[in-house]
Amino acid sequence: MHELTIITNIFSIIDEIAEENQLTKITRVTLKIGELRHVYPEMLQNAFEIVSKDTKAENAVLHIKPIRVKMRCKHCGHEFFVNNSYCCKKCGDYRLKIIEGDEIIIETLEGDR
Ligand SMILES: [Zn+2]
Repeated sequence: MHELTIITNIFSIIDEIAEENQLTKITRVTLKIGELRHVYPEMLQNAFEIVSKDTKAENAVLHIKPIRVKMRCKHCGHEFFVNNSYCCKKCGDYRLKIIEGDEIIIETLEGDR
């Protein structure tokens, strides 16, 4: 279950942020997740509940925002959002570079001191 791995990794960062900001409780976490991660929001939610148990983030609200996949064509430099086909919409080349869409970002973290 790769959602659990993602959440576990995120929690080590959440812990650090909470520590730095002297938060005693985390109430809300907003994550931005690239669509290339192929994450299921429901499974992510479940994983969050499991991992957050007995931590500062127990019962926190998890908010997930998807990041669309954006590619740049290595041939002509055209940048575009990917829908179904993984080829350049301008010249048809398949050699593409991912610009956005494979990242996992903690956008906001809210809590109490
Ligand atoms: Zn192109």
